[in-house]
Amino acid sequence: MGTILCISGIASYLVMAHAHWQSLDRELTSVAGTLHDTLEPILETSGQISPIAKKILPNLCLVLDQCQPNTQRHILGGVHQDGYYVRLLSLAGNPLASIGENPVANISVLPEWQDVTDQKGERYHQVSLLITTANGQNWGYIQVGRSLNDYERHLLDSKLLLLMGLPVALVLTSLAGWWLSGRAMKPVHQSYQQMQQFTADAAHELRTPLAAIQATTESVLRMDALSESEARDTLKTIERQNNRISQLVRDLLLLSRMDLNMLAEKEQSCSINDILSDLQEELSALAISQAIALKLEIHVSQPLKVVGDEEQLYRLFSNLITNAIRYTPEGGEVNVTLSRHEHYAVVEVQDTGIGIAESDREKIFERFYRVSSDRSRYTGGSGLGLSIAKAIAQKHKGSIQLKSRLECGSSFITKLPLSMN
Ligand code: ADP
Repeated sequence: MGTILCISGIASYLVMAHAHWQSLDRELTSVAGTLHDTLEPILETSGQISPIAKKILPNLCLVLDQCQPNTQRHILGGVHQDGYYVRLLSLAGNPLASIGENPVANISVLPEWQDVTDQKGERYHQVSLLITTANGQNWGYIQVGRSLNDYERHLLDSKLLLLMGLPVALVLTSLAGWWLSGRAMKPVHQSYQQMQQFTADAAHELRTPLAAIQATTESVLRMDALSESEARDTLKTIERQNNRISQLVRDLLLLSRMDLNMLAEKEQSCSINDILSDLQEELSALAISQAIALKLEIHVSQPLKVVGDEEQLYRLFSNLITNAIRYTPEGGEVNVTLSRHEHYAVVEVQDTGIGIAESDREKIFERFYRVSSDRSRYTGGSGLGLSIAKAIAQKHKGSIQLKSRLECGSSFITKLPLSMN
């Protein structure tokens, strides 16, 4: 950024200097051209200044005259131009007359455009034009010039401004860049932290069943003899822990594939009525084992269809209903209702369970978050169920809303857009 600023500063300085120089040239060309065109018709004899010329240019001072230094420097009648001078020169280049303070320097008429420096070191820019008389003979030269003092002062001011402005601009740009990069990096930093947290949580979740398997096998290996029932119990423990690991790995794979959009897009027309009826049938055994009444109410006459992946939708509602059963004490109720609201299928899974505190309501959709890890572990949860449900709902352009009261129960309301057919 600093290099770009320096380059653009230098470039704008060069462009400005060039533009100034060109306007200086234009001014000199215009003044010299006007004088040249005015004098040519009234000059008769080569090297001689006619009286009419003196009338037209009253400030004209002949070399032989003792002129007072002209402080007003009027050129072209009333036009007042600071730093301008006009010289009339013979064909041999000797000065004949002048207007304005002109540089005391070696006078030459070639090349046409010249930069001269006088004895005091002041620089001038001048143009020389050949003048012919009224009858076409060469008369001499007119030389119009201007002091470069103003021009150089202006360039010096611009240089100083750039030199002082550049560090300020650099500091301001650095500050702005630092602030912007901080803002841009914030989400990157957050997602990096989330990733680290996710890896740590996943490792922790995997370590628990792995440690259980290791402890079981070590204790069995230390035993001298193993009865058949002991061997079965051991294998059952290992199988249970293994199932837990497999489920966890499946869940993690599902989540990461959904994150990376790697799941094959299925565009099936799925009947929510059928999915909920199947789930009621499948989960009724679990509900009965926990002495919970699982009810399904369907408030629509026609089956509600959603376009998407039937397996995933099944997983979504299964997670919500299983949670409702898990987190409801014995004797409680879990009511699943299906209704339609505008172009959405609305599924409400309501329980009379332990409820969720307000402070936890946002967090329970985060990966591995569990309100009470002891209880979740007891119920076999890993803290991924709701994040999977939310990800599936979002993938189907839907949402999950939670209403809950601690010790009274919770209600998870899922909205999914209906298929247009
Ligand atoms: P888990 O596998 O631990 O159940 P979830 O992601 O499904 O993980 O749920 C996250 C946490 O949200 C659970 O640990 C539990 O504390 C809370 N929770 C989920 N559903 C309910 C519910 N119906 N009633 C009360 N708490 C719930």
